[in-house]
Amino acid sequence: MRHRIAVVGSGPAGLTFARVLHRHGHSVAVMERDPAPHARPPGGTLDLHEGLGQLALEKAGLLAEFQVLSRPEGQAMRILDTDGTVLRDWHPDPDERANPEIDRGQLRDLLLGPLDVQWGRDVTEVTPGTGDGVLLHFADGRQESFDLVIGADGAWSRVRPAVSTATPHYTGVTYVETFLNDVDTRHPDLARLVGDGSMAVYGVNRALVAQRNSGGHVRVYAKFRAPRDWHEELNLDLADADAVRSSLLARFDGWAAPLLDLLHHGDAFVHRPLYVLPVSHTWTHVPGVTLLGDAAHLMPPLGAGANLAMLEGAELAESIASSRENLDEAVRAFEERMWARAARWAKITTAGLERLVSADPAEAIAVFDQVQPS
Ligand SMILES: Cc1cc2nc3c(=O)[nH]c(=O)nc-3n(C[C@H](O)[C@H](O)[C@H](O)COP(=O)(O)OP(=O)(O)OC[C@H]3O[C@@H](n4cnc5c(N)ncnc54)[C@H](O)[C@@H]3O)c2cc1C
Repeated sequence: MRHRIAVVGSGPAGLTFARVLHRHGHSVAVMERDPAPHARPPGGTLDLHEGLGQLALEKAGLLAEFQVLSRPEGQAMRILDTDGTVLRDWHPDPDERANPEIDRGQLRDLLLGPLDVQWGRDVTEVTPGTGDGVLLHFADGRQESFDLVIGADGAWSRVRPAVSTATPHYTGVTYVETFLNDVDTRHPDLARLVGDGSMAVYGVNRALVAQRNSGGHVRVYAKFRAPRDWHEELNLDLADADAVRSSLLARFDGWAAPLLDLLHHGDAFVHRPLYVLPVSHTWTHVPGVTLLGDAAHLMPPLGAGANLAMLEGAELAESIASSRENLDEAVRAFEERMWARAARWAKITTAGLERLVSADPAEAIAVFDQVQPS
């Protein structure tokens, strides 16, 4: 089998796909818009589940390396009341490996390994069904043909319109992300507050969540229900860190001072309105094109997206590798399997977001009690 295969995007989905295909001895062109691997900050930490992201890494032959890099202690989870009282404080057993955390940058470097990604390749459009297969169009005007194009290009996929008219819609929930560096030396009180893993505080239609990453780095998420243009209503310039900080402090007014210190000491603020694709998003199969990960099933970020993206990448690569000549049948069978699993997770995460950022903070604690062993 020597099909011309391209994957668009070098996120968890695209890289896992390419890495597993590479392991089976097949080549794939990985097209990434970013000009270089470290062109932008890679983002926070991801917990990889045993039957999802970790299974994908096993299929890529990378599980042992993941176990060295990942942080099992990062599974710790603490819930505080808005007055700072500790309501729940869960610590994993030393041998607990269900959902260890890994920094996104470490995961990307692990997956990259020997792969030869084509950086700076910004795909603008995909035309299926040409005489010479599927045509990829790039922002620099170039074009290339392939037998199979896989859209692993995230929420705002440029490949998706080749198979589906669906577009992401706003959930009504916005995250504003900030971070603290050298927390153990610069902010020891906050380091203790956050602990080894995550700390969450739930209020009415808002929450504050802090997560420890490696190297004394902590990511903080201010989460709240608001219209998509909430900042315009406040005449707030999102590029003005001091103004965003003040606006968040006003939104969380009345919460205990140590909790608000997470915002006081934040370095920069990144605006992340949450968008999702419709639950159970599917499409009529188009020969030569498919989607993986967020491009296929963008859902609320509750610990599933990267895990699904990776497992899908691994499974599609395995089915292609074992498909011999019938590439299209392999892709069709994969799509059916992906759609069914993603729909289950989209329902779980959609319901989860409703309860975790809700008018009744007790709902969020009930979610924790349902998923966390006592
Ligand atoms: C705040 C937050 C926290 C999260 N936490 C978790 C978690 O703990 N666990 C979990 O499982 N998931 C989590 N997620 C979800 C997870 O980040 C995504 O589901 C996951 O990154 C999807 O992977 P992907 O490869 O499909 O897409 P992406 O990670 O979005 O990667 C897409 C890639 O495609 C590239 N690209 C985009 N457009 C083009 C183009 N036109 N041409 C070429 N390249 C292009 C991008 O540059 C990028 O490299 C979180 C999400 C958010 C927002």
